[in-house]
Amino acid sequence: MGLLSHGSPLSWEETKKYADHVRQHGVLQFLHIYNRVKERQKDVLKWGDEVEYMLVSFDHEHQKVRLVLKGEEMLDTLQDQGEKINPNHPTLWRPEYGSYMIEGTPGQPYGGTMSEFNTVEDNMRKRRLEASSLLEENTSICTITSFPRLGCPGFTLPEFPPTPVEQGASKSLFFPDEAINKHPRFSTLTRNIRHRRGEKVAINVPIFKDRNTPSPFIERFHNDSGDDAKAALPNHIYMDAMGFGMGNCCLQVTFQACSISEARYLYDQLATICPIVMALSAAAPFYRGYVSDIDCRWGVISASVDDRTKEERGLKPLNNNKYQISKSRYDSIDSYLSKCGEKYNDIDLTIDKEIYSQLTSEGIDHLLAQHIAHLFIRDPLTLFEEKIHLDDVNESDHFENIQSTNWQTMRFKPPPPNSDIGWRVEFRPMEVQLTDFENSAYVVFIVLLTRVILSYKLDFLIPLSKVNAVNIMQCLRSSIKILAENIYPFTNR
Ligand code: GLU
Ligand code: MG
Repeated sequence: MGLLSHGSPLSWEETKKYADHVRQHGVLQFLHIYNRVKERQKDVLKWGDEVEYMLVSFDHEHQKVRLVLKGEEMLDTLQDQGEKINPNHPTLWRPEYGSYMIEGTPGQPYGGTMSEFNTVEDNMRKRRLEASSLLEENTSICTITSFPRLGCPGFTLPEFPPTPVEQGASKSLFFPDEAINKHPRFSTLTRNIRHRRGEKVAINVPIFKDRNTPSPFIERFHNDSGDDAKAALPNHIYMDAMGFGMGNCCLQVTFQACSISEARYLYDQLATICPIVMALSAAAPFYRGYVSDIDCRWGVISASVDDRTKEERGLKPLNNNKYQISKSRYDSIDSYLSKCGEKYNDIDLTIDKEIYSQLTSEGIDHLLAQHIAHLFIRDPLTLFEEKIHLDDVNESDHFENIQSTNWQTMRFKPPPPNSDIGWRVEFRPMEVQLTDFENSAYVVFIVLLTRVILSYKLDFLIPLSKVNAVNIMQCLRSSIKILAENIYPFTNR
C-alpha cells in the first residue's frame, strides 16, 4: 500500500508543520528524477501483479468464521524463507493494512513474451501454497475483496473489543485497532486522517432491502457519543473506520512502458477502461454483516480515507484551508496526461499554482505539470522524524509520500532514483477474485490489452467527466446493470 518508512511517526499536529517542506522537497525530488530520465527510451515490457490476501479461520464446531490477526508474523516467516535467502525466490511478500492481510507478488517481473503469460496462474498458485504451508489447521488464506463480517462483534481471532472512547487510532465503534497492521505507517495514517478531517471518517452504503428489512432501516449503536447517530444515514450500513475500506483486498497490475510518452498514453487509455473492469470484477456486496445494495468496494474505500476537512468538502466557507476539493484521495483520476487526452480534460482541476509555475518554469509541459500540481494539493499524512531532511538528488521519499497517498484508479510512476527501472503505470481498480485462475485471467487480460492498444494505436478516450460519471454510479448501485442499461446502451443493441 505504498511507501514503508521506518522510524518514529509524528503526530498530525507535527506532520502538518512540515507539509510545505514535504511538498517543496517532493517537487525537487520529482524534478531531479524527471531531468535524469526524461529521455529514457526503449525500455522493454516488464510487469507484475499484486494480490492481497486475508487470513481466515473456520470454527466448524461453533460455525464461526473469523479473521486471524497474524499477518505480520506470517510476513516475517515468508520473507525469511524466501527473498532474504534467495534473490531469485519466485515470490515476494509485503504487508497490507489489516493485520489479517498480506500481499504477494511475483519474485521477478514478468517479461513480454507469450510464454510468460502462461506462468502467471502458476506463480499465483505458488504464492497461495507457500503461504498456506504456514497456516494452522482450519485456517485458510483467501482472496476475498470484502470480508462479509468485517466490523461485526468478535470478527477477529484473537478477539478484541473496539475502543471508541479511549485514545486510539480509529476510535471506531466496530473496528478494533488490533486489526490494523502493527507497522506504524498504518495506524499513523488512520489517526492522522481522522485528525486532519477533524472527525471520524463516515462511510454509508445503501442497505439491500428485501421484504424482511425494516423500513426505514435505522441502527442504534451501543457506545455512541451522539456523533455516530448523526453521521449514519437511514437505510444505510454505517461504517466509521479506515479499516472498512483499506481492510479490503484488491488486484493490481503495474507495467513498465518503453518511455515516458508511452507511459502517459497508456495511463490515459487505461483510465477509460477502469470503470468497465471495476464493474466486471466487482466482488464486494457485504459490509458489516449486512447485504448491501452495491457490489463494489471503491466508494467504501474512497470514503474510508477521506481526510478532507468540512471546508475542503464545501460544507463550510474556506477559512483555514486553501482549497475546496471535490474528491477523496482515493478516487478516479482527474486529468489525462497525453497529448491526445488534452481536449478531453473537462474536469475543473484544483492545483497548487506555485508548484505548477515552478514545474513549468523548469521545462515541464502543461499536462504533466498540472498532474503533479494537482496531486500536491494534498498534505502528507505520515512523516517519520528520521526522514524529514533528505538528499533530494538521491532520495524520493517526500515525492512518494504525496504520490503514494493519492490512491487513484491509475497511477503514473516515475522511476525511483538511481535504479534501472523505467517509467511505469499502475492499474488499480480491480477487485480480487476467489481463484488464481480468475485473478491471472484479469491481469493477463489487462497486459494484453496494453499490447493491443499500442500495436493498433487505439484511442478509447472520452471526456474525462464521463469516465468519472461511470465510476460514481458504480459506487452507488449495482455496477454491471448500470453500465449495461445507461452508460453503454450500444452494448444492448
Ligand atoms: N487494499 C486496497 C484496495 O482494495 C489497495 C491498497 C494498495 O494500494 O495496495 O484497493
Ligand atoms: Mg496493496
